[in-house]
Amino acid sequence: MRPFTFERPTSITAATQSASQLGAKFIAGGTNLLDLMKVDVERPTNLVDISALPLRDFGATAEGGLRIGALVSNTDIASDERVRTRYPVLAQALLNGASGQLRNQATAGGNLLQRTRCPYFYDVFMPCNKRQPGSGCSAIGGYSRLHAILGASRDCIAVHPSDMAVALNVLKAEIEVHAPSGVVRTLPISSLHRLPEETPDHDTTLAPGELITAIILPPPPAGRQAYRKVRDRASFDFAVVSVAAVLEVAGGTVRDVRLALGGVAHKPWQPHAAERELVGSPASTDFFLAAGQAAVAGARPQPANEFKVTLAERLIARTLTDLAATGG
Ligand code: SF4
Repeated sequence: MRPFTFERPTSITAATQSASQLGAKFIAGGTNLLDLMKVDVERPTNLVDISALPLRDFGATAEGGLRIGALVSNTDIASDERVRTRYPVLAQALLNGASGQLRNQATAGGNLLQRTRCPYFYDVFMPCNKRQPGSGCSAIGGYSRLHAILGASRDCIAVHPSDMAVALNVLKAEIEVHAPSGVVRTLPISSLHRLPEETPDHDTTLAPGELITAIILPPPPAGRQAYRKVRDRASFDFAVVSVAAVLEVAGGTVRDVRLALGGVAHKPWQPHAAERELVGSPASTDFFLAAGQAAVAGARPQPANEFKVTLAERLIARTLTDLAATGG
C-alpha cells in the first residue's frame, strides 16, 4: 500500500472541499476501497474519512417515505422494521448482498459506489480501460462469464456489483448529493450510475468532491415486491443475474409492474418497454416469460455468457409468477 494522508472532517462542506482535491478519496466503511488500495488499483494521496459527519439519520419523511443517511450500515437498513415490512425488496437485496460482517461495516452510500468486480480491474498487470483509460479491455475475448449482456461498449463490458442499487431503482428512490460549493441536489437513483460508453473509468454521474448524504425512499408502491438473485456461491457472492420486481395485480390482470436487473450491465438495468407491454396483460407465466424475453431483447452477450440471456428471461418469469401467486 502506498503512503497517504488521512483526515476526519466534522462538516460536510469541509469534507467535500477536501475530497475535490486531486488524489483525494472519501472513505466510510472501506470494505471495497481498502481492498483496492492493497492491490494498488486505487492510489489515493489523501483519504477523507466521513465517519464523523452527521449522516446517520434514519427516519420517516413528511411524504410518507423514509430518509436513510449515507452512513447507516447495510445491516441497520436490512433489519429495520419499516424497511422489512414496507420495502421488502430492499431488505432482501441487502441480505443477499454480502456476508454479515461486511453488512455491519458497509454503509448505504458506499454500497452504491462500490466498484466492479471484473477480475482484470483488480489485476494491475492486465490492460483495463476502467483502471487505466486507453489500455484496452482484457475481458473482451478473455474471461467474460460474469460480464455484461446489455449496454456494454467496445471499451468495457463490466457489470455494476450493487444489489441495493437494483432494488432502489424499482422503488424510485432519490439520492441527496452535497457539492463542494455547498449546493445540495437530489437525483433519481436511475441517474446515478451510467453506461461505460467511451469513458468506463467513470462509474457514476457524480462530479469530483460530490458526496452522497442520503437515500430518500418515496412511499412504497402498490403491489408486492421481491428480489431474487442467482449467484455461484450460496453463502455470499455477486450476482450472475438478479431481478428486483414490484407487481400489482387486480382481477387477474397486471395493473402495474416495475423491473430492474442486476449482473447484466454497467448499471442497474430497467427494461421499461417490457414493463409497458406487461401492464394490462393476464398475470400468467406465459405473459411473464414474454416480458422476460422483451427485457433482454437487445442483449449482446459474449460467447462465454450467452446463458445469461435465458437465465434473465426465466428469472423474471419465475419472480413475477411467485409474486402473482402470493397476491401480486
Ligand atoms: Fe476493465 Fe471493464 Fe474490460 Fe473489465 S470489462 S477489463 S473493468 S475495461
